[in-house]
Amino acid sequence: MDIQELITKPSSQQRKALLNKDVSAVELVNAVYDRIDEVEEKIGAYNSLTKDIALQTAETVDEKIKNGEDLPPLAGIPLALKDNINYKGTYTTASSKILENFVSPYDATASKKLKENFIPVIGKANCDEFAMGSSNENSAFKIVRNPWNLNKVPGGSSGGSAAAIAAGEATIALGSDTGGSVRLPASFCGLVSLKPTYGRVSRYGLIAFASSLDQIGPFGRNVEDVALLLKATAGYDSHDSTSLNVPVPDYEKSLRNDLKGIKIGYIKELCSEGLQSEVSEAVQKTIEIYRSLGAEIVEISLPLIKYSIGVYYIVATAEASSNLARFDGVKYGYRTKNPENLYDMYVKTRAEGFGDEVKRRIMLGTYALSSGYYDAYYKKAQQVRRLVKNDFDNAFKKVDILISPTCPYTAFDIGSKIEDPLSMYLMDIATITANLAGIPAMSVPAGLDSNGMPIGIQLLANSFEETKLLNVAFKLEEVVQFKYDIPLKMLVK
Ligand code: GLN
Repeated sequence: MDIQELITKPSSQQRKALLNKDVSAVELVNAVYDRIDEVEEKIGAYNSLTKDIALQTAETVDEKIKNGEDLPPLAGIPLALKDNINYKGTYTTASSKILENFVSPYDATASKKLKENFIPVIGKANCDEFAMGSSNENSAFKIVRNPWNLNKVPGGSSGGSAAAIAAGEATIALGSDTGGSVRLPASFCGLVSLKPTYGRVSRYGLIAFASSLDQIGPFGRNVEDVALLLKATAGYDSHDSTSLNVPVPDYEKSLRNDLKGIKIGYIKELCSEGLQSEVSEAVQKTIEIYRSLGAEIVEISLPLIKYSIGVYYIVATAEASSNLARFDGVKYGYRTKNPENLYDMYVKTRAEGFGDEVKRRIMLGTYALSSGYYDAYYKKAQQVRRLVKNDFDNAFKKVDILISPTCPYTAFDIGSKIEDPLSMYLMDIATITANLAGIPAMSVPAGLDSNGMPIGIQLLANSFEETKLLNVAFKLEEVVQFKYDIPLKMLVK
């Protein structure tokens, strides 16, 4: 297989080629940069490239292979890192003008673990500004185009991470998921992704959006890659007080277990009304696949889902308004030119540095937290959040896994929703509940719609049941045999 083809394959094939010495890690990384030269102008997946860092890591891998040393499974596998995750010495902008020239002085814990696993970071992936959005159109620098159809959005907010893999500009990626931001882009770009249990992966060094919802999550071309990258990044971290001290299992070991005795519930409220017909058909087909694999299928009702968008957009904006207070032009980042006084400096810095969506959320969140409204909005939202969690707790007494579409629709046209924030917020109906409840959830490709755009199926499990979740996802993948490589062939001249 030639190297340009090898970079479009899942990590297992690349690892095999590395260990057989068919290619070196440096050659693999260079081949990815050749691909970037060829396609990146059309896609916009990266805010910056980190070639020196990637090549240095690749050289270490080659050295270790030469010396016959044992290597972790993802050593040498090219990765795209969302640009809201600190990686020492790289620009970390969160796709915001306010951090345009910010260089990370330290590593996020997830980045530290990438280094420990000798995973070369190809570049910092474009995203919605401060991870706020569902289409990646809120980046202050440039939009990201969906490699399956360049007129469509890749999904957000981790759109660059997903588009990079779908376009062959990386093999694996990390994103962050506050309300669906790794699952929606995976669903729109025909990839696998996983939002871990809250507390499973350290948030230290992830630029905070909504701290009680944020988790860093892996993307890959298949379930195995996602399992390996989760294993590489998960674990307790004393730097994150919400990280949980639970052992990290070997996720990939249980992927092939059979599904006899597993109970799967499809979520009534998300599988019935308001879906694109092909998405609805894909859900039905998935249910039939699981039935044929020996799983027991039941209907589960989660009646409070109807409140989840309202709850999420109060909790997330409230936390964002507080987290983003630190960007004031004093400590780091952009500062306005020639302010009249200190107050003027704060106001102008933030007015010039933040984009429209970020400002909208700061205003909404500040309002929800202000005295007089706190009880009516923020406190009420937190109470309903608890009830949403209770619904899941009850559901997981009856079933092992829940299923729904990842999104009611497939990828939409660039520009078609950006003027209407509410319709954009509604895209998150299926994904945000997992963040509100803190439970793990995945998106797995299930087929294409009539326009050739990927459809994603969401699978959810109880807290810390990622092993079961990945096993159920793997079994679907085996049957569906999704062709993730269509855009990889389309894009090359
Ligand atoms: N689309 C959601 C939002 O705009 C989720 C974003 C995310 O998960 N980071 O808030």
